[in-house]
Amino acid sequence: MAAAGVTVEQLAAYVDGSQRGLPPVVGRRPPGELAERLGLARWIREGGMTPEAYAEFLATYLDEGTRFHHPGYLGHQIAAPDFPAALADFVHGAANNPMAVYEMGAAAATVEFEVLRWMLDKVGYGEAGGGVLTHGGSLANLTALLAARAAAVPDAWTDGVPGDLALLAPESAHYSLTRAAAILGLGERAVMPLDVDPLGRVDVARLPAALDRVRRAGRRPMALVAAACATATGLYDDLRGIGEFCAENGLWFHVDGAHGASALLAEEHRGLLDGVELADSLIWDAHKMLRTSSLAAAVLTRREGDLDAAFRQRASYLFYGDQGFDLIGRTVECSKAELGLKVFLNLAWRGERGLGDYVAGRYAAARRLWELAGERPGFRLPYEPESNIVCFRYGTGDQAAIRERLTEDGAFHLSSAEVGGVRHLRVSVMAPATDDKTLEALLDRICEMGGGRSGSGV
Ligand SMILES: *Cc1c(COP(=O)(O)O)cnc(C)c1O
Repeated sequence: MAAAGVTVEQLAAYVDGSQRGLPPVVGRRPPGELAERLGLARWIREGGMTPEAYAEFLATYLDEGTRFHHPGYLGHQIAAPDFPAALADFVHGAANNPMAVYEMGAAAATVEFEVLRWMLDKVGYGEAGGGVLTHGGSLANLTALLAARAAAVPDAWTDGVPGDLALLAPESAHYSLTRAAAILGLGERAVMPLDVDPLGRVDVARLPAALDRVRRAGRRPMALVAAACATATGLYDDLRGIGEFCAENGLWFHVDGAHGASALLAEEHRGLLDGVELADSLIWDAHKMLRTSSLAAAVLTRREGDLDAAFRQRASYLFYGDQGFDLIGRTVECSKAELGLKVFLNLAWRGERGLGDYVAGRYAAARRLWELAGERPGFRLPYEPESNIVCFRYGTGDQAAIRERLTEDGAFHLSSAEVGGVRHLRVSVMAPATDDKTLEALLDRICEMGGGRSGSGV
C-alpha cells in the first residue's frame, strides 16, 4: 500500500511537471548507463526492493523516459493518457480479468461489449455491426483483413491461401497493412498500389484503372484499403467516393481509421469521415485520440457475421450457450486485457462531448501551427492540415538535422515524414498542454537554428 501511495504521488507530480514543460521531453541516456542508474542487475539478481528503494527507482525511471504530457512532445501519435484510463490500467493490473471469455471477467466483458456498441453506433453500422477490442491498430488491421480473407476465400482457414489474391492500398498506407498481407499468407507482392495524388491520397477517378491492372495481372482483389487519416500527412481519403466504387465492384472496403476515426466525435470534423458507413471494416485506436494508454484498438465490421467468420478455429471448451458471450472467437489473443474499461472510464468521466472537444482542440492546434508557420518566411507547408498532424520544411537544408538539434535541446520532440518523396518535419499535436505559446516557441527555435539559411519560399 505504501508503494501504491508513492506511485500515485510520483505520477501526479510527473504529469504535472510534464504538462508545465520544464524537464526535457525525451531522456536519451545510453542503455548501459541507465541499467547502472536503475540498479537493474542487482534488483534482478537479489530482489528485496522496499517502498523506499522503489520510490527512488521510480523517480529515476520516470525521469529517463519520454514525456507525452509535455507541451513540446510533438512527435508520434502517442496519447497523453487521461487519468480515468490510467485508473483502468491500475484496476486491470490488480484484478486481471482476461475477459475474452465471459466467465473470466463478466463485468469487463460487458463493459467492452457496450463500448463497442457505442463505437458501432458512432460509425453508423448500428445493430447489424460487430466488433472487438484488440491490442493495437496493427493487430486490428490484421484482424480486419483476416475477415476480408474469409469473405473472399472461406476455405483459406482450412485449406490455405490461394496464390492469386491481391490487396489494393495506397503506398502511404501504414506498414502494418503490408505486414498483414505477408502474415496472412498473401505475400507482400500481393499488395498492389493504388494511384494517388501528390499528397498520397487515393485518386478516386483512377480506381477503375487500378482494378483493371489487378485483374489483368490475373489476381483477385481481396480488399481495398483507404486511410482516415494517413499516418504521415494526417490527410483523409475520400471515403464516400472510394466506398461507392467498392460497392459497385463488389470489393471489400477496409478503412484504417486508427488515428482519425475519433473525429467522429467532433461535430465540425465528422464530415472528414463521410461515407465511412460504406466500409466493410474499420479500425479505430483508442490509444491515439481517445487518450488511453497503449494499446486498445477496435476492429469493427458492418456485418457482425464477417468478424465471426474471420477465425474459423473453434476451441469448443471455451464457448457457452446462454451464460454470456465470448469474444475470443474474434481475436488473435487468448487472454486479453480489460481494454474496454480504459475507453469506458474516459467516456464516463469526460463524456462523448469531452472527448470530442479534445479531438477538436488538437486539430485546431495543428491548424494554428500551419497558420503561424505560413506567416513566417522560410517555412514551406505542402497542404492545409485536416487533423492534428502537419508537415512542413524550414529552409533548404537537412530537415533531419533540425529535428535532431531540437531533440538535443530538450524542449521539443518532432518526427519526420516523406511527403511527395521529400523529407519533411512532422508535428502531431497530442498533448492537451500544447498551446499557441508552445507553437510560437517551436517556430522561434527553428528559425534561430536556421542561422540565416533562409528558405527560398518555393
Ligand atoms: C498508428 C497507426 C496504426 C498502427 O497502430 P498501432 O496501434 O500502433 O499498432 C495503423 N494505421 C494507422 C493509420 C496508424 O496511424
